[in-house]
Amino acid sequence: MYVVIKKGATKNEIDVLKQYIKDTDHGILEVVDKGLKKIGIMGKSDVLFRDELMKYSAVERVEKIAKPFKFVSREFKNEDTIIEVKGRKIGGTDMVVMAGPCSIENKEMIMEIAKVVKENGGEFLRGGAFKPRTSPYDFQGLGEEGLKYMREACDTHDLVMITEIMDTREVELVGEYTDIFQVGARNMQNFSLLKELGKSGKPVLLKRGMSATIKDLLMAAEYIVAFGNKEVILCERGIRTFEIATRNTVDINGIALLKEKSHLPIIIDASHGTGKRSLVEPVTLGCILAGADGAMLEIHKNPDCAFSDGDQSVDFAAFKLLSKKIQKTLEFKESLKCL
Ligand code: PEP
Ligand code: MN
Repeated sequence: MYVVIKKGATKNEIDVLKQYIKDTDHGILEVVDKGLKKIGIMGKSDVLFRDELMKYSAVERVEKIAKPFKFVSREFKNEDTIIEVKGRKIGGTDMVVMAGPCSIENKEMIMEIAKVVKENGGEFLRGGAFKPRTSPYDFQGLGEEGLKYMREACDTHDLVMITEIMDTREVELVGEYTDIFQVGARNMQNFSLLKELGKSGKPVLLKRGMSATIKDLLMAAEYIVAFGNKEVILCERGIRTFEIATRNTVDINGIALLKEKSHLPIIIDASHGTGKRSLVEPVTLGCILAGADGAMLEIHKNPDCAFSDGDQSVDFAAFKLLSKKIQKTLEFKESLKCL
């Protein structure tokens, strides 16, 4: 349920309304949607509550949201959400590129990659310090040491840092370093983690679980929002299907559909989506045209020697070319809007 605030309602009238909502044990989510102020009301609410709300002078009307995912839906907020991190915008008309290695291997490599990302117009550096590996014997990441290197690389090259968080016990530690939390596919439905990130005060990039439906993804995003964090970025990274010729199957339908159903920005990660370096470019570009607001890519100086995910990492030359093609694709996408 949400209320639409009357145009011209005073701050005091709105505060009185908010206090009432809080006093009745409901959470509050304030947004502006196409110039209209709205207050989302979280928690159980019935018809009687609706009648009570209507008595407040700040209230224009009360609306029910029919969808199970409520505050991430366009039913609640039609306007695209734009998330600003250190002056960079995710969502809207800007196109973001989040590039970097699968795992941070050492200081020199992350420094060098950060430089390459910056030189090619990228504004976000990705990289894993805590790695979710299928085998316990595979490289698990450098942990805090990796976070330190990555922070230094981001500060040196003025990049926004995004790194994976796997455990509720690490939210504080990872939060000391990163600008954006990444929730990996394997943790998309780790509800304890989602709740903690809801309270973290930093944007969260939420990757689609490998066997999650679109509804599952949106419900997971809803958790983060319901626990207090509006800044959620969705990420399509492929799902498991009967097709095993590629590591995963990128759900391009899902990207277009998510754009219809949700106001949240969406990023395509074609590295994990395909598992194959040669497919990263065509799939990234295709998904941008389908509606993605940005791309996440794994890059490496020498992909064949990467500690993890080398097969799906592109080298610096391929990244340079792809960065240009992403910009051209964005221009083309914009030009379609005038038709
Ligand atoms: C990653 O980004 O390196 C990663 C592990 O991704 P995913 O959670 O999509 O598998
Ligand atoms: Mn990876």
